[in-house]
Amino acid sequence: MTATLIDGSAIAADIRAEIKTRVDALFEATGRRPGLATVLVGEDPASQAYVRMKGKNSVEVGMESFSYKLPATASQEEVEELVRELNANPAVNGILVQLPLPKHLNEEAILGAISLEKDVDGFHPVNIGRLVMKGRQPLFIPCTPKGCMELLRRSGVQLEGANAVVLGRSNIVGMPVAALLLHANATVTTCHSRSKDLPGICRAADVLVAAVGRAEMVKADWIKPGAVVIDVGVNRVDDPSKKSGYRLVGDVAFEEAREVAGAITPVPGGVGPMTIAMLLQNTLDGFERTV
Ligand code: NDP
Repeated sequence: MTATLIDGSAIAADIRAEIKTRVDALFEATGRRPGLATVLVGEDPASQAYVRMKGKNSVEVGMESFSYKLPATASQEEVEELVRELNANPAVNGILVQLPLPKHLNEEAILGAISLEKDVDGFHPVNIGRLVMKGRQPLFIPCTPKGCMELLRRSGVQLEGANAVVLGRSNIVGMPVAALLLHANATVTTCHSRSKDLPGICRAADVLVAAVGRAEMVKADWIKPGAVVIDVGVNRVDDPSKKSGYRLVGDVAFEEAREVAGAITPVPGGVGPMTIAMLLQNTLDGFERTV
């Protein structure tokens, strides 16, 4: 059996088109557009590329984009002061502080300084607290986990009663995606670097979400025939045939896994584009609460 491809690029393009239609209608009605501010501290090339992409995508759907760059030597106070200014700026509906921050900065304090109403990355401790608790509503859900859930929803995957296994327990992917699957009434197992018998645990999964950052770790014989596989991982592997000298692969050995799975996301073109689409959706939601 060859798995159905869950085409994150196409689904994200549909979502961006839906967002643009809504942004244009709101502009007609209010004369205002949603505004997304990105804050980049330092010069990490991957972070620069992510921030550029987020700015470009927000403009394409008709939003205002505000880009702030601070040197790698910026102090805690300088970063928090910028966040406070953006909190007070009515043209800004979403504030995204690109992670990871330089080591000398206190990430928790900076994320905690972002106004709850503008926390479009969903990493404010109050939003995360509400996300993991039963019956509470976060104002924003973190973008990558939300993107995984949207891929499952738009692909018609039945989650209620399903066995879901999440590989990884990070604050930005594994932990929130496990919480969301639980809220969707799946039975959830979360694995991490100390888990034993990963292949055996994964083989029981109807839905498998891989977010470990280990190139092609999940092999075909880890996958239950017909399972749905969401591959969050983005890993560089050497490839002399490419101009860049590398190519991107996921945490799942895609070519062999697609022979066993029922449906699977590719890397690139799976979860990645959904992350940005969900950021735009969150920014639009934040704006809509103000009009
Ligand atoms: P982290 O490094 O923060 O977390 C990795 C998690 O995987 C940890 O919980 C770790 O366990 C676990 N882990 C690591 N090695 C193993 C192993 N050999 N066996 C079992 N578990 C293991 O990574 P992130 O969550 O930030 O990212 C995960 C992947 O997703 C990365 O490839 C990243 O690039 C990608 N990513 C993609 C995004 C997208 O938009 N597509 C967005 C964000 C991330 P422990 O807790 O015990 O250390």
